[in-house]
Amino acid sequence: MKIIDYFEKAEQQTLVSFEVLPPLKGGSMGDIFNTLDPLMEFKPPFIDVTYHREEFVYNKRASGYYEKTSIRKRPGTVGICASIMHRYGIDAIPHLICGGFSVEETENALIDLHFLGINNVLALRGDARQFEDKFIPEPSGHKYAVDLVRQIHEMNQGMYLDSNIENGTPTDFCIGVAGYPEKHFESPNFAMDIAYLKEKIDAGASYIVTQMFFDNQHFFRFRDACKKEGINVPIVPGLKPVTRKYQLNSIPRKFFINFPEQLVQEIHAADDKHTKQIGIEWCVQQCLELKKEGVPCLHFYTMGDVDTTFKIVEKIA
Ligand code: FAD
Repeated sequence: MKIIDYFEKAEQQTLVSFEVLPPLKGGSMGDIFNTLDPLMEFKPPFIDVTYHREEFVYNKRASGYYEKTSIRKRPGTVGICASIMHRYGIDAIPHLICGGFSVEETENALIDLHFLGINNVLALRGDARQFEDKFIPEPSGHKYAVDLVRQIHEMNQGMYLDSNIENGTPTDFCIGVAGYPEKHFESPNFAMDIAYLKEKIDAGASYIVTQMFFDNQHFFRFRDACKKEGINVPIVPGLKPVTRKYQLNSIPRKFFINFPEQLVQEIHAADDKHTKQIGIEWCVQQCLELKKEGVPCLHFYTMGDVDTTFKIVEKIA
């Protein structure tokens, strides 16, 4: 079923959904099932599975020189989606990125998804690789997520890259895209970021999932700005609790978000055990307010921490 149909069917009810990361190479599907089995109690209609492109690593050789090699630490997104759908009978949404893909490889990946009966995707650009200071697309790859959305939308019309294909089978993907309540870090300003988000919707995306945020006012401002720009698709807030003190620095560094002063003060004053409790309670309060505001779904970045996610969702269900 398409993600937007879940939102429509739920009417005014707020759904919950979860995002999982493929296990590190060498791990197993058991790692994913251990995370998801307990969370099934909350009846998520869909699960997102992230995509991780290859990274360059530098290994020191006996000669003293460094050898540059490319590895993918978390492969398996599509297989995990198929396993989730098979085990739980719910939808799984693979994240698909521009980085590392030529347009032909993108098309082939989409054909695989279509054949597997996966008809929801979250279309993203991806980030710069480690040791690269900006995102570099493949020579024949997409530069922005909007280009990927356009390609998927064209396939939904039966248009493939090979112009010799006549009457190509139309795919039927429901396309989600990312939004940033505190602005994407590369964007010159908030208004421009929203304008580019509108382009993704106009190109064929049907819903938005946001970057995590810890102050709901950012989300409400973002939602209102979207509306003003003419973006009328469902906007799903992405949520993650703070569980460790060091995250006060690591999360802003990685996700370019700000922590509200009150949360920072509370965590500074707490010991490690209480930090987690404060993070959970903060996230619960965020969820309750967002629910009251009628968001279609609360989307949790589990990051493998099933215990914390469970504690939050059981309080808001
Ligand atoms: P875009 O929409 O392409 O935007 C990137 C930047 O370019 C923005 O600053 C935007 O304002 C600007 N821009 C957009 N269009 C144009 C244009 N036409 N001209 C000029 N500028 C433009 N990364 C992964 O690698 N794997 C994942 O699984 C993954 N999952 C994610 C899930 C969510 C919900 C979110 C919020 C992010 C996720 N990311 C993931 C991270 C994402 O890839 C990065 O945030 C990336 O830097 C931007 O991706 P995007 O799709 O928002 O890019």
